[in-house]
Amino acid sequence: MRAVRLAQIGNSLKDQDVPIPQIGASDVLIGVAAAGICHSDAHYRAGISKIDNLPLTLGHEIAGRVEEVGSDVTHLSASDRVCVHYLISCGSCEFCVRGLEQFCRSGQMIGKNRDGGYAEFIKVPGANAFPLPDEIAFEIGAIMMCSSATVLHALNKARFKAGESLAIFGFGGLGFSALQLALAFDCGDVYVVEINPAKLAAAANMGTIAIDARTSDPVEQIKEATAGTGVDVALELIGSAKTIRQAVLCLGRLGRAALVGLTAESISIFPYPELINKEAEIIGVSDHLATELPMLIELARSGKLRFPPETLRVVDLDAPQINAALDSLQDSIDHVRTVIVPRV
Ligand SMILES: [Zn+2]
Ligand SMILES: [Zn+2]
Repeated sequence: MRAVRLAQIGNSLKDQDVPIPQIGASDVLIGVAAAGICHSDAHYRAGISKIDNLPLTLGHEIAGRVEEVGSDVTHLSASDRVCVHYLISCGSCEFCVRGLEQFCRSGQMIGKNRDGGYAEFIKVPGANAFPLPDEIAFEIGAIMMCSSATVLHALNKARFKAGESLAIFGFGGLGFSALQLALAFDCGDVYVVEINPAKLAAAANMGTIAIDARTSDPVEQIKEATAGTGVDVALELIGSAKTIRQAVLCLGRLGRAALVGLTAESISIFPYPELINKEAEIIGVSDHLATELPMLIELARSGKLRFPPETLRVVDLDAPQINAALDSLQDSIDHVRTVIVPRV
């Protein structure tokens, strides 16, 4: 089969011919219909996130059709449409038994620790293949399993409830999903903090209160708009010390700031006035859980979670096209998602 693989850190991905994977009793073989190209893939290629086993087929945002089913897999049959949960866990370590499989002692990420979806076929454990309803296009089924799943996890970690107010820092792919999920959960007022005029306009059009961080301190703007109260939940999706601090400062009493964006910078917090006095919380968010995916899939099936067609771009399973898409992720702030659709 054709696969597009990383052979050397810092180099372009290469087209390679590799054997179709052999499945075991607990696996399924999936014919890849769509594979999202994610910012993390650019980081793997560049060596910013470490990859141990090379060569490796990248790609962790995957949807397709079941080709072959292992004898122990009972919930799927050949030709079923599926999307893939990219975290493979053992199911038996102390974290897995508590439903915290993102900390699995022997956990593996598809497309990082083992071959991913930039290929015609992929082998995954049956437990990682979730039925994909006909209403959800393969391209959407692929990309929602990463960014949308992670913001759903962030809202869950922040214990976001109906009627609560929300501040979203960063209105790219993650922020766009976060807003739709919050609306689906009957949120209160939503404040979107951005510096990009087009994104501010899009956020305002979707019924949020757009906070232009170029004009003045977004914390002051949110405080003023909430009559000094602050918000119940803040989602930080950018990953900079400045916006992380703003996400904490815009919280009201009992507010929760969920941090999703990655940064190596440190932040300073004044514990008494900024956290203790308000009983505010800062919550780290890492990946998502298999148990959250049925709800995510249902929100997409019912149309509450959408991805406008103009934000999706399609490329072939072809190394030059995929490398170009990864290059554009590295230097662009625009959040158009590129999806690989292998030609049959
Ligand atoms: Zn991803
Ligand atoms: Zn485990």
